[in-house]
Amino acid sequence: MAVHILVVDDEEDIWDLLKGKFRRRLRDEEWVLHMASNGVEALEILDREPAITLVLTDINMPEMDGLTLLDHIRAKDRLLQAIVVSAYGDMQNIRLAMNRGAFDFVVKPINMADLEVTMLKTLEHIALLEEARRNQEALALSREMERFRSQFFANVSHEFRTPLTLILGPVQDMLHGMAGELSPVAKKRLAMVKEHAGRLKHLIDQLLDIARLEAGHATLNLCRQDVCAFIDKQYLAFQPAAEKADISLAIQHTAENLSAWFDPGHFEKIIANLVSNALKWTPAGGRIRILTGAKTQADMISPAKMIYVEVRDNGAGIPADALPHIFDRFYQVEGAAGTHIGTGIGLALTKELVELHSGTIEVASEPGFGSTFTVCFPVGNADDVADIQAVSEEASSVGVVSDLPAMFFEDEDFEETGETASLNGARVLVVEDHPDMRAYICDLLAPLYHVIPAENGREALQLLKTEFDEAAPALIISDVMMPDMDGFQLCKTIKQNPKFQHIPLILLTARAEDEDRLEGLGLGADDYIVKPFNASELLIRAENLIAIRDMLKQKYASGYVMQVSEVSIQSADEAFLASVQEVIEAQMGNPDLEVPQLADALAMSPRQLRRKIRALTGLSTAGLVRSMRLQRAAQLLTQKAGSISEIAYQVGFQQPKYFSRQFKQVYGVTPSEYC
Ligand code: ADP
Repeated sequence: MAVHILVVDDEEDIWDLLKGKFRRRLRDEEWVLHMASNGVEALEILDREPAITLVLTDINMPEMDGLTLLDHIRAKDRLLQAIVVSAYGDMQNIRLAMNRGAFDFVVKPINMADLEVTMLKTLEHIALLEEARRNQEALALSREMERFRSQFFANVSHEFRTPLTLILGPVQDMLHGMAGELSPVAKKRLAMVKEHAGRLKHLIDQLLDIARLEAGHATLNLCRQDVCAFIDKQYLAFQPAAEKADISLAIQHTAENLSAWFDPGHFEKIIANLVSNALKWTPAGGRIRILTGAKTQADMISPAKMIYVEVRDNGAGIPADALPHIFDRFYQVEGAAGTHIGTGIGLALTKELVELHSGTIEVASEPGFGSTFTVCFPVGNADDVADIQAVSEEASSVGVVSDLPAMFFEDEDFEETGETASLNGARVLVVEDHPDMRAYICDLLAPLYHVIPAENGREALQLLKTEFDEAAPALIISDVMMPDMDGFQLCKTIKQNPKFQHIPLILLTARAEDEDRLEGLGLGADDYIVKPFNASELLIRAENLIAIRDMLKQKYASGYVMQVSEVSIQSADEAFLASVQEVIEAQMGNPDLEVPQLADALAMSPRQLRRKIRALTGLSTAGLVRSMRLQRAAQLLTQKAGSISEIAYQVGFQQPKYFSRQFKQVYGVTPSEYC
């Protein structure tokens, strides 16, 4: 490709000089020369000829001089370098030109050989700049492609989650007799459906994990745990599968109480991948050992305490030429597949998760003798985790075995919630656009609650205003991605509306990313469940949220009134109740304190206030005011703050007799007996 050069000089003989000197290059179309006699003309040509990369310019010219031209060149967003040509006595100007971005200079009278060297050197520099820019663009492009790819993975995986829930959920329910007794054959077939759906779920989860890691969204939720106890739990989970495959699975801790900082969710995947691989590649009668221990890394400047976990099998082994690649994404040992279908994601994911813990993973293997995978990671301390999202000291559980490959598991334990949950007839609003999913959730809840379905956020809001106008639902369960009004919007609208904000809301969604969960919770959602979900989990969470709301109700109904100082604003509801109390306490002595004044002070309509207080406390608003008056009276009586009539007036009762009667009703004794 020809190099385009612009020569700017008011002395036209330079053009002939250049044409003569560079005749060959010009003839061969290696270079193309453009000529201008001042800065203004030069700028016009530059606009017309985007291919120009080098400018050769004089300094002293009429109309626009070379220095001003340099300023314009610098302001242009393109690769342009300039060489200034000026008389020797013009050194001061040449300095100025260099300061304004000229790449080099030659002095007049021009030594043509020197000029050629300078031009070639400058063109070389331009070529390097062009290459760097291309690389940068290519990098940006490949980053963008990566992002698209990760996004695509994530989207597709999310799309899989909904149908998968609709397969796994009902299958699990049926296997546990929720749809009546099954014949042994039907049970066996269903178990197979469950196993394969479980495999699919495992794969989708792995793809999502990889996409998350690629996008740099993976987070570490570190907590300090005992590695031995954690691995024991994993070992027990795999024991049935090992027995079934007639493989002896053993565990050995070379040290007790190996306390370390790690992410239990990630660590579970690491161990599960290694053990399930070992189970896959070890024949019946074989052996798998899991070893744990501690060691000090000697070759570090400050020796660090490390934990290692070794998974050792005496199975098929891995050929030497495959070993360097087995941690590559989508790599599978050639010819090894045999009866085992895989994707080559497991070890790649394992390695990334180990490295997220600043750890290493190594493999030693010999075909026919077996393989040993060793994971080594620093014990760590809380200071190491500055850039980590959540850190908790000594997690309460030792990690839940949840995401292990379904193919290795017998039927999961399935809590029979049907018997424990009380059929209290509470009304639950289910918002879900997918008709099958909606029907499934409604079916799940129907034995326990009075379920009302809605197809999207807008319809749900409409129902709240009509169907639920008199009494709000006890719970809302809403999907996130829906047409018209999505779950986030619905949640935001509900939680910002004083009339509805006390209704507990569970977001149920296929969007498993941390950010989505945090966004949902940030909008005030009371809980967040990821699809495919476990039916029992949904039922338990629903029951808990309703129970918490009921407890709050009982607390108030039984005459309990929070002291304002007790309020640590745990929730919007309690904050609301605290402000109600504040207003009541401030006007305690006012016998005419009625709902309209209270509503006014709280910037609500009397109807909204009545309904909200009823929903939260089970009391009428007048009942709540009376309950607070009596409680204050009881306090004053204990403090002997005045006569009974004085106290009655002080807390807003106009007739001491009426006060005594009300007091006895609540406290079981008359005011005089009380003090
Ligand atoms: P996959 O999901 O296909 O199992 P992995 O990334 O987990 O992918 O493993 C990559 C390859 O490494 C497998 O295809 C298998 O050939 C080999 N491999 C992994 N673990 C073992 C093992 N314990 N013994 C023999 N081969 C193994």
